[in-house]
Amino acid sequence: MNTEANQSRTKADIVIVGGGVIGSAIAYFLTRDNSGVAVTVIERDPSYAKASSALSASSIRQQFSTAVNIKMSKYGIQFLRNIGELLRVGDDAPDIGLVEPGYMYLATPAGESILRENYAVQKAHDVQVELMTPERLKEKFPWISTQGIALASHGLAEEGWFDGYSMLQAFRKKAISQGVNYLRDEAVGFVRDGERITACQLASGQLIQAEVFVNAGGPWAASVANWAGIELPVRARRRSVFSFSCADKLPDCPLVIDTSGIWFRPEGEQFIAGYAPPEDEDLDDQPLDVVYSAFDEFIWPTLAERVPAFEAIRMTGAWAGYYEMNTFDHNAILGRHPACSNLLFAAGFSGHGLQQCPAVGRAIAELIQFGEFRSLDLSEVGFDRILQNQPLLERNVI
Ligand SMILES: Cc1cc2nc3c(=O)[nH]c(=O)nc-3n(C[C@H](O)[C@H](O)[C@H](O)COP(=O)(O)OP(=O)(O)OC[C@H]3O[C@@H](n4cnc5c(N)ncnc54)[C@H](O)[C@@H]3O)c2cc1C
Repeated sequence: MNTEANQSRTKADIVIVGGGVIGSAIAYFLTRDNSGVAVTVIERDPSYAKASSALSASSIRQQFSTAVNIKMSKYGIQFLRNIGELLRVGDDAPDIGLVEPGYMYLATPAGESILRENYAVQKAHDVQVELMTPERLKEKFPWISTQGIALASHGLAEEGWFDGYSMLQAFRKKAISQGVNYLRDEAVGFVRDGERITACQLASGQLIQAEVFVNAGGPWAASVANWAGIELPVRARRRSVFSFSCADKLPDCPLVIDTSGIWFRPEGEQFIAGYAPPEDEDLDDQPLDVVYSAFDEFIWPTLAERVPAFEAIRMTGAWAGYYEMNTFDHNAILGRHPACSNLLFAAGFSGHGLQQCPAVGRAIAELIQFGEFRSLDLSEVGFDRILQNQPLLERNVI
């Protein structure tokens, strides 16, 4: 690593690489009690053109299959409901437009037992879910076709969607108001002294020294880990989202996850929908071009079978963003790696990081401040499970 004497140097207590929702939430929690800690967030693109946080479907659910994910979402919904006060800056109280019509999973006869098992986990953790026969489903949502459905589960509370970009901006503004320094630059490497990192090297030539470093690089977190010689199983996987209009209304429509894996939900007066590409097409680092063919060939015909009113829809727009896919077990990777004592990870959210950012922000801040999780124990999603090859599989990945 080049450490020439004429490079400008700055210092911070904590350096966070990546200023998306995760990096910004960590920065907010680190500074919210006026502790005087000096936090610098390195963000190369303040327009967030490619950041997942700006390209998300911005939804929150409780219907996970693992307790730790439910724990994070329980905290997340409370935070989102109160975000106007929690992230208020002067008279500016952020409004993220949270609505809570729930998620609804549909299962074929083959998927019924898994839905029931997930339901048992959810009930054990106070998630309000209704399991529905096809008859009950039709009664509740008359606009749906129950063809091929054996069972459905509908979240009755604490699930819905919001404006994710507004949430990102709210965390960022609040963090800045608390003294966090956002540096527009690209981190390109670490300087090490034995098993500790001493500084972060920036593309501008600047070198920032700090006591603690956080990898919140989202879909690019694996390259940040590489600078410390650590293999992080997180890959950028492209997901396309399509918006469309439909002449008919679908009263009380939740976010529906069809048996095909396609999901859809209302977005204002319109709808949005997305899908997970087949595994052999789900390659790393694809350019963020929308896969338009998927809409005509697969998504629209499938949606029209599930909701007859969707036979007459019109695509109104589309975008593509990266899931920061944890290829090991589709869950967050939080905390330290034994090879490097002062680098913390907050990565690998596999499509559910927006809803988890309040919990992750608080937990990582506690880990830095106290050396341990205090209010929310997220040690289950630490690095150990990866090093011991014990995946914590989340079944409900959308
Ligand atoms: C289509 C889609 C739908 C989704 N739907 C949902 C959903 O419904 N609910 C949900 O909870 N989640 C959803 N997600 C996932 C969610 O958006 C992400 O988990 C979350 O935004 C991750 O935030 P992040 O801050 O880690 O990453 P990002 O928002 O990508 O931020 C990382 C930042 O790091 C910066 N960066 C990286 N490397 C460097 C470097 N070397 N130097 C400087 N800066 C760097 C980048 O510029 C970027 O701004 C969805 C994602 C996509 C793509």
